[in-house]
Amino acid sequence: KVYADYAATTPVKPIVTERITEILTNHYGNPSSIHSIGRDGRKYLDQSRREIATILGANVNEVIFTSGATEANNTAIKSVARMNKSKGKHIITSRIEHHSVLNVFEELEHEGFNVTYLNVNHEGIIDLEELKHALTNETTLVSIMLVNNEVGTVQPLFEIAELLEDKDVMFHVDAVQAIGHMKIEFKELPVDMLSITAHKFGGPKGIGALLVKQGTQFMPYIHGGEQELKRRAGTENVPYICGMATALKDTYEHMDQNNIHLMKLKEQFLVGLEENAIPFELNGSMVNTTGHITNLYFPFIEVETMLTLLDMSDIYVSSGSACTAGSTLPSHVLEAMFGKDNRIKQSIRFSFNAVTTEEEVQYMIATITKIYQQFKEEENE
Ligand code: PLP
Repeated sequence: KVYADYAATTPVKPIVTERITEILTNHYGNPSSIHSIGRDGRKYLDQSRREIATILGANVNEVIFTSGATEANNTAIKSVARMNKSKGKHIITSRIEHHSVLNVFEELEHEGFNVTYLNVNHEGIIDLEELKHALTNETTLVSIMLVNNEVGTVQPLFEIAELLEDKDVMFHVDAVQAIGHMKIEFKELPVDMLSITAHKFGGPKGIGALLVKQGTQFMPYIHGGEQELKRRAGTENVPYICGMATALKDTYEHMDQNNIHLMKLKEQFLVGLEENAIPFELNGSMVNTTGHITNLYFPFIEVETMLTLLDMSDIYVSSGSACTAGSTLPSHVLEAMFGKDNRIKQSIRFSFNAVTTEEEVQYMIATITKIYQQFKEEENE
């Protein structure tokens, strides 16, 4: 069996499961309780927060734990937009964001906000000139992802920030697909808020964080108790937060060698398909990219057929983000890159991980070759 859908989610690392089980079993205290069982829970919460902050180059009080990136994105975008309503009601994002960003902007449009959805080029990179011209005195927020989840393209974060430098505009970044693939030093990054989620780097689903620069005005999205310095109510999910810290530590320890491995696999995959004379084109960038995502256009086959044939050969991939893969909706990312072209109905996302092997890639090349040969035979009949 070959799982090649790691951009959708990753398996939980065994050391993470171990850590979660240990905390669940032996350190169940509510970190807000003042007795010693509660203080024990608080100790593990604080320790994990410290570890996560240190790894990501943030201060401990800049980390707000959330139920994942969807909540982190909702919090950042809705808070900034609504809080600054009196200053201006113009907010900016790109056409290729994850739905947990795009749909929030659409929701805000219904509330009367003015949204600019930036276009991208064929590689999936935003146009800085377009952003420059879109900015007005009414603009209060720009939210752009660091790494796209469907095509792996990396956005020019520093150049974007430069355009915002002398403006009173908040910059939020969805860095979900960047964690483990690029070094994130929050204090060095010219951004105000950044979202992450544990299940993309070997942690459990349902836990993530929003990093918020110290001194940034902030309005909570979830109201209730006084947890997370009154910025996100609800008893902290201590076992999963500890699991996220363990997953992040392990990911960072092996990041450099993993990235070399992933780039090698990507090259092996593309070269192998080329050598076997499979017609295909890359959706994305060869340069501004991470190694873990390879999105390919196969002009000879519809995506549903390809997915079914791959599935029958025990290869598990998807056509785009998991949220749209269940339906036959064409990818909004590919549509932004190529328009309403047939290409968007004939493209597949392969996403690899540190545990993906050369043999698995070889098996994928062989299977796609077989599928193509079958197609050619049918065509000649
Ligand atoms: N943003 C991006 C780029 C993603 O790939 C995902 C993946 O699911 C999310 C946000 C949502 O994260 P979560 O599943 O933690 O809500």
